[in-house]
Amino acid sequence: MEKILQLKGGRDKAVRQMHPWIFSGAVESVQGDPQIGETVRVVSASGEGLGWAGYSPHSQIRARMWTWDPDQAVNEAFIHERIRRAVEMRRFWVPAQVSDAVRLVHAESDGLPGLVVDRYADWLVVQFLTAGAEYWRETILDALRSLTGLSQIYERSDVEARRLEGLPGRTGLLSGSGEPGPVRIQEHGLQFDVDVKSGQKTGFYLDQRDNRRLVGEITAGCQVLNCFSYTGGFTLYALRGGAESVLSVDSSAEALEQGAAHVRLNGLDPNRAEWLAGDVFQVLRKFRDQGRSFNRIILDPPKFAQTAAQAQRAARGYKDINLLAFKLLRPGGILVTFSCSGGVTAELFQKIVAGAALDAGVEARIVRTLTQAPDHPVAMHFPEGAYLKGLVCQV
Ligand code: SAH
Repeated sequence: MEKILQLKGGRDKAVRQMHPWIFSGAVESVQGDPQIGETVRVVSASGEGLGWAGYSPHSQIRARMWTWDPDQAVNEAFIHERIRRAVEMRRFWVPAQVSDAVRLVHAESDGLPGLVVDRYADWLVVQFLTAGAEYWRETILDALRSLTGLSQIYERSDVEARRLEGLPGRTGLLSGSGEPGPVRIQEHGLQFDVDVKSGQKTGFYLDQRDNRRLVGEITAGCQVLNCFSYTGGFTLYALRGGAESVLSVDSSAEALEQGAAHVRLNGLDPNRAEWLAGDVFQVLRKFRDQGRSFNRIILDPPKFAQTAAQAQRAARGYKDINLLAFKLLRPGGILVTFSCSGGVTAELFQKIVAGAALDAGVEARIVRTLTQAPDHPVAMHFPEGAYLKGLVCQV
C-alpha cells in the first residue's frame, strides 16, 4: 500500500510555496502505515500530488519535504545528486586556500532536511538530526565517501533535536580507522586544532569564518574584548591583525585553554592575550563598575532562543549584554555583535541593539550588517535558514 500523507483543506499553502516543513496540525491523515523516516507521498485535500517528504511520527514537524516534484523519485540517486550539488557549491565559495574546514551540507537549505556535514581537513563530521535523514544514513555515508574521497567519518548526532524526533543521541566513528584526535585545520591562513569528538557543535563555528576575518581587519593597535570567545576564533584574527591586547571571556575553561594553545600554535604573542573564565553577563557588569574600557568589543553569544516563542526572553539577554558593551566602548570604538537565535529576526535584533545604545546613552551608527558564511546558505523559501545576524556598530 502506498504511504500517503494527506493535508487538511486549506493547509497546503506552505508546501506549495516550497517551504519544507509540514506541521502536525496541517495533516488530515496518514495512510499505509509509514515507518519512522520513510518517504511519504504528500497530497492535498483533493488528492493532488504535491511532492515527497520524510515522515517524522513523533515530531510536531510531522514531515519534511525532499522534493516538491510529484514525479521525482526519492532514492539513492536522488540523495547522491543533492549531496553532489551541495559539495560542488562549496568548492567555489570556500576554496581550499580559504579553508579546509567547511560545512558541506547545510540541511534544509541544501534540500537535505536534517542532514549536516562538516569537513575538517581529512575528517567528515555528520549529524543526522531528523528521522528522514536517519532513514537514509547508509546512502548518505556512501555518497559522502564517493563524492569527497574521504573515508574518515565521525558522527555527532548528540543533539536535543533528535529527542524530539524520537531518535536516541548517537556519536562515534562511522567509517575509517581510529578515533579522531584534535584535527588541525587552517582558516584564512590561521591554524586551529578542532576537537570533533567533544567540541561544541561539530567542533568549530564555521559560520563565523568571514566575520572573523573582518575583525582581523579592524583591530590594529586596539584593546579588544572578545566575549563568548570559545577557542579563540576572533581572538586569533585580532592578534594577527595587530591588536595591542585581546581579553577573551568564556564560561568554558577548557575552550580558553585551547584558545591559548592556538595563540602559540600560530606564533602569535601570548603576552597580548589574556583569558578569563567566567559568565559574560557578570564580567561585563564588573568591568562597568570598575570603569574599564575597550576600543573593540565582540559579542558572539550562544543561542538564547530556539523558537520565536522564546524570543522575548532572548531579547532581554541581548539587550543586557549590548547595553553593557556600549558602556565599555571608548569614543570611536566599535562593537561587533551577533545573534544566532533562529527565533530572533534581523529586524528584531537591530531593534534590540538600538534600544541598548539608547539606554546606554551612546550615539552609534551601524557600519556593516553581517551574516553567516556562504557554506551556510539559506534556501529561498526557507527563511528559518537565516539564523546568524551581526551588526558592526561604531560610537
Ligand atoms: N566566537 C566563537 C564562538 C562562540 S560560541 C568562535 O568564533 O569560535 C559561544 C560560546 O559562549 C561558547 O564557547 C560557550 O562556552 C560560551 N558561553 C555560553 N554562555 C556563556 C556565558 N554566560 N558566559 C560566558 N560564556 C558563555
